[in-house]
Amino acid sequence: MTKKIQILLYLFIFFPLIGIAQKEIGVWEIKDGILITNQATNNKIAQQYWKIVTNTLPNDLLHNYVSSFRLFTDGIEEDLGGINPMNDLNSKWQVDLDIADMDIHSKDSTHILSYTHTLIHEFGHLLTLNATQVTPTEDEYQEDKKGYLTMEGYAKKKSYLGQFVQQFWPPRLLYQWDRIDKKWNQRKRLRLLYRFYLKRQDSFVTDYAAESPEEDIAEAWTFFVLANKPIPNSIKEKKVLFFYQFPELVAQRKFIRSKLKSIPLNYLENFKSRVDY
Ligand SMILES: [Zn+2]
Repeated sequence: MTKKIQILLYLFIFFPLIGIAQKEIGVWEIKDGILITNQATNNKIAQQYWKIVTNTLPNDLLHNYVSSFRLFTDGIEEDLGGINPMNDLNSKWQVDLDIADMDIHSKDSTHILSYTHTLIHEFGHLLTLNATQVTPTEDEYQEDKKGYLTMEGYAKKKSYLGQFVQQFWPPRLLYQWDRIDKKWNQRKRLRLLYRFYLKRQDSFVTDYAAESPEEDIAEAWTFFVLANKPIPNSIKEKKVLFFYQFPELVAQRKFIRSKLKSIPLNYLENFKSRVDY
């Protein structure tokens, strides 16, 4: 079998299987931060999960933007959860959580920390990609003078992501990353991305942060919340320190930390990457 046929078979056979393997638990409407029960039999479990989300994360953004809540599972690991815009204006969002990766009955502190990381990370996307942060566009390719183009639109120059890219993703780095990101072969893309990360381990808080500027800021935000204030030894610490210039984010950090049962010790130094390539 030629390499090309192998890859095609991989794409057509393996990817649909991944889709089928994801089991839907249910989808619920969220109105002004309140979960609306529906005909689904899993209302109780949805309420329990939504309570943890609203008890952990600052409520203003959840109230303003989250209109849908979805629970699913594909087993442990794979897809942990996500947050996605429901319209082109980025004014309505859906939170997705995998109930296997977020076992709310678990007493295991490593497991709790892992899903807390996921919750804060997803909140980081809402924080940096909502309607106040990003200008929607029809552009499929970035026009450099308009700033950095995300899937949701151009990051405004003064937005958190706009400033973060300006400071940490110089054009040369963006170009090198973009060349990898364009690879249509996903396995190759991930392999090259991992190499891209290995060459710059001091610049990224985790290997997953090298996936894109959007993931980079969401991961750095998560360490800003969970880790102690670092000394700026290298770029990754500077990425965590970036958020301290915004008083409203320092307040959000304080709020989230006040809700956690325990704060991890030296989270940035001790963190073990979770992604396998
Ligand atoms: Zn993410």
